[in-house]
Amino acid sequence: MSFGQSTVLGYPRIGANRELKKAVEAYWSGTVDAAALEATAAGLRAEVWQTLRDARLDAIPSNTFSYYDHVLDTAVAVGAIPERFERLGLSKLDTYFAMARGVDAEPALELTKWFDTNYHYLVPEIDDETIFAADPAKPLREYAEARDLGITTRPVLVGPATFLLLAKGSAPFERFGELTDTYAEILGRLADAGVPWVQLDEPAYVADRTPAEIDALRAVYHRLGGLENRPKIFVATYFGELGDALPALLDTPIEALGLDLVAGPGNLARLSAAGPLGGKTIVAGLVDGHNIWRTDLGAAVATGAVVAGLADHVAVSTSCSLLHVPVDLSAEKHLDPDLHARLAFARQKVDEVVLLGRALRDGTADLPSPPPAPPASWRNAGVRDRLAALTPADRQRGPYAERAAAQQARLGLPDLPTTTIGSFPQTPSLRAARASLRAGRLSADSYADQMRAEIEHVIRLQEALGLDVLVHGEPERNDMVQYFGDQLDGFATTESGWVQSYGSRCVRPPIIFGDVARRGAMTVEWSAFAQSLTPKPVKGMLTGPVTILAWSFVRNDQPRAETADQVALALRDETADLEAAGVKVIQVDEPALRETLPLRKADQKAYLDWAIGAFRLATSGVAADTQVHTHLCYSEFGEVITAIDALDADVTSIEASRSKMEVLADLAAIGYSRGVGPGVWDIHSPRVPTHDEVVGALRRAVAAVPAQRLWVNPDCGLKTRGYAEVEASLRHLVAAAAEVRGS
Ligand code: GLN
Ligand code: ZN
Repeated sequence: MSFGQSTVLGYPRIGANRELKKAVEAYWSGTVDAAALEATAAGLRAEVWQTLRDARLDAIPSNTFSYYDHVLDTAVAVGAIPERFERLGLSKLDTYFAMARGVDAEPALELTKWFDTNYHYLVPEIDDETIFAADPAKPLREYAEARDLGITTRPVLVGPATFLLLAKGSAPFERFGELTDTYAEILGRLADAGVPWVQLDEPAYVADRTPAEIDALRAVYHRLGGLENRPKIFVATYFGELGDALPALLDTPIEALGLDLVAGPGNLARLSAAGPLGGKTIVAGLVDGHNIWRTDLGAAVATGAVVAGLADHVAVSTSCSLLHVPVDLSAEKHLDPDLHARLAFARQKVDEVVLLGRALRDGTADLPSPPPAPPASWRNAGVRDRLAALTPADRQRGPYAERAAAQQARLGLPDLPTTTIGSFPQTPSLRAARASLRAGRLSADSYADQMRAEIEHVIRLQEALGLDVLVHGEPERNDMVQYFGDQLDGFATTESGWVQSYGSRCVRPPIIFGDVARRGAMTVEWSAFAQSLTPKPVKGMLTGPVTILAWSFVRNDQPRAETADQVALALRDETADLEAAGVKVIQVDEPALRETLPLRKADQKAYLDWAIGAFRLATSGVAADTQVHTHLCYSEFGEVITAIDALDADVTSIEASRSKMEVLADLAAIGYSRGVGPGVWDIHSPRVPTHDEVVGALRRAVAAVPAQRLWVNPDCGLKTRGYAEVEASLRHLVAAAAEVRGS
């Protein structure tokens, strides 16, 4: 059986109305049983396969459904279930959810970012005790379900090399052989069931890999390709360029290789340099699976034709799984028609792939014409003129020593000043108020009254606790990016553009489609109100340009750097308004700085240059005695450690409690010499840290950083926590700071 002409590497599994989220959450809360959950899931799977068939896609994937995460599914398929979960003695489904979410006695597997996307996968744990064992029940069942509908599918699994490289706990090289044997067994079982093709995803090879890692990849696919009893093998790669792994894979007896020609245009040159392709099918990822813009079909056909000139057989696909885009544009009834005409969500991208597959075979006559040029109203000449006139001085504040002295004179803070990261608990009544406002049941005035009451409550609580630098608590923010997107020109919000972030959690990223400009002050009303309540400094709270881009769908008609600078200018104007309103400390959060770091080292410097430049543009307009804070949500800086310094914030708060303050040594090593607030309380857990634990963390910190520069704060915002934990933990934090200060 040939591969087919058109395919997608994966499809959203959450359902058009987030049915999966609702079903799994109902199961977790005990309101539906396992059978009901399974029935909902089977219905969602059937709907996807039928949708893809009806769209005339001719190679349809399966096993792309997941109750939580496809990496966890692959861990289960190879028997990598840590003993600590096995011994709970739960059902298969509950063991799975225990690994995903943890249970009282056992914390969950670690959750981390899937390459440079905003999807999070569960990190497989492999230790010396792990015995791999094939368990292909899930892919087999899904294959059979689709067969019952008359649809032949291609089961998808994370490939063995990527699986091991993503896992933690043991040296991957020691396990390649065993794990490949387990995959061999899985492939045999699939073949026995009549599966014609299997898709093994190896995205780990678009990042820098050592020659030994590439050799391991080659060995894995030599071994799997050499099996007698197996489906045909399609190795899919995505998110960038394969580099040396490309010839290595071509060297193996696999039948098809997938290349991302959107995020990795250089794959084309590499492919043509690779020489004869030995009858392999090249699956050309021509439709962007990671962004929501319509494909330039003419250009895509031209690229496809180049591939066709190199390979005996070419199929067209999405560049990566469609997991990363919303389900269906037709659900959007209120988008500006000019924008709507430029968008393609998962369902529309399937049509594009089908059209491209046909055009490559039959010619381009039937291709729809591209949308007309964007309307002039999307351009903002004022913003463009300002950007063109920028000079390096606009990204440069005065010397830190002078700033620090001016800020200390104005703020009069003690050593080890205490603060929080911004948000206080988002209570059900706050969420209900926002829902009522949206539904028109609550007037804007009553909503504002309720927000002010909440802010006053948060200020009084912080005063009572004795914190030094206060926050307003962010009660008015639905989300730290959408809140700004809603108030900026050039941004659009979708009604149902949900994308899975992890497990049952979905996000609705805004779309940046045009020039970004501020219509008016965005945060001043709330921050100024908060400051008016107290003589203590209250931090103004903004989301930084890099994070706003990272958590939005960004226009692709100009470099991201330019869009980031436009956002930065809007934020810079906001800082001026905050200052004018009497706000003395402004925090600009950049939790996503690391997340969108390019996967290959060679590309990282250019990214960091514009990312840092945009942050500095946003924050360099303030007076020397205005204190600029930033907050970063991770502690393993790796490549970005020097970037932290280059941001030039007066104070940086960072995650540190899990890593036991190790990050301070890293910062010292690069000569970071401004304020730093290593988190002393892991807010990702409901656990209240004891007074002694906080004292211990602070003593470790004081050994590494002088007390004048050391801030005392939690790891991150408190919006997901409850007030009981927050009050108790902050009480310990303030008392611990006092104790360490006095000693
Ligand atoms: N200021 C934000 C908050 O406290 C920061 C959130 C984040 O780092 N993700 O919620
Ligand atoms: Zn954070």
